Amino acid sequence: MRSENVLAMPSAVPAPQQATGLCADHGQFPQTINMIFGKVFKTGCPECMRIAKKEEAERAKIQERCELQLKLGAALIPKRFATKTLKGYVAESKEQKEALRVCRKYVDKFPEISETGRCLLMLGKPGTGKTHLGAAIANELMRKTAATAAYRTLGSILHEIRATYRQGSERAEGQIIAALVSPSLLVLDEIGVSKETPSDFELTTLFAIINGRYEQMRPTVIISNLDGKALPSAMGERCVDRLREGGVIVLPFDWESQRGKEGF
Ligand SMILES: [Zn+2]
Repeated sequence: MRSENVLAMPSAVPAPQQATGLCADHGQFPQTINMIFGKVFKTGCPECMRIAKKEEAERAKIQERCELQLKLGAALIPKRFATKTLKGYVAESKEQKEALRVCRKYVDKFPEISETGRCLLMLGKPGTGKTHLGAAIANELMRKTAATAAYRTLGSILHEIRATYRQGSERAEGQIIAALVSPSLLVLDEIGVSKETPSDFELTTLFAIINGRYEQMRPTVIISNLDGKALPSAMGERCVDRLREGGVIVLPFDWESQRGKEGF
């Protein structure tokens, strides 16, 4: 009868035995040997298993970035900014050193920041290195952590979305927005560059991105030449409200431009 065979099963599995295994790469290790239905099952080298697991995680991370890259239709960080590092930022004055410190902390504390979706506003005069630092944050996160980070100017996003309205476009507006909501961090540069009031299209797009990220509790870094007072009219009040959630960090860049001072 079938049930008798099932009841007889436990006796077919003797207690596991402890032994010492030998790995060609890592030497001796404690090994458990199980005999199951006359077959011998030995546990493997724990160090080899740890390495295999790490490699698998690494592969998954690369896979995730490739998929995000495909969704964005371009590199997460444009080539021009891919070499920017925090180390490469020349900080001489007290204010510059403070800006660098805040950016470094933002990278170091990113696990906590990404949990609360805490945004960073880099506001102030042109030529003070905001773009350098913003791109550097994205680069360092990509290099040092499993987080994904993208850098985009608002202008390039609007351009990409307008291109989807053309007949025969392969991508839809929703796909572009979704790809900008996906990364662990989005650095959004050149907010409010045009002196005119923003168009409805501009405000709607901005809100779709910022609100999408807000709903997923994903932080955004905003870079603008405007100050805190002028920002709401360039982004829309609703947008700025979303950024404030989770305790926004405002970093002012109010020293004189460094452009052209370094010579050629
Ligand atoms: Zn091994």
